[in-house]
Amino acid sequence: MISASAGIRALLQCASPPTRAGPEDSVDHCKFRTSFGGALFCQDPAYLEGFCRFHHEALLQGDINELGVINEHLSDQERRREINFHGIRIPATRYLDERE
Ligand SMILES: [Zn+2]
Repeated sequence: MISASAGIRALLQCASPPTRAGPEDSVDHCKFRTSFGGALFCQDPAYLEGFCRFHHEALLQGDINELGVINEHLSDQERRREINFHGIRIPATRYLDERE
C-alpha cells in the first residue's frame, strides 16, 4: 500500500530528473526579459537563439531585436503587451478583482 505523499513524491521525481549537465546550459528558458516586475524572464522553454518560439517569431518579424528589446517603432500597444507578457503567469482573478 502506497501513501498519498509517497505517490506525490514519486511523481515529482519523475517530473524533475536529477540532471547534472554542463555549466553552459544554465539557462533553459527564454531570454526575453519581460516588463513585469523588472527582471522576470519569459518562462517558456528556449527554442532558437535563446528565445522561445513566440519570441523568436517576434524577432523574425522585427518586433524585438536579438537582445529582446521591443522595437520602439512598434506602435501597436496590444502587440507590445502581448510580447511583454508572454510567458508569465498572472492570476486571472487579478483583473476581475480590479473591475469594481
Ligand atoms: Zn519567450
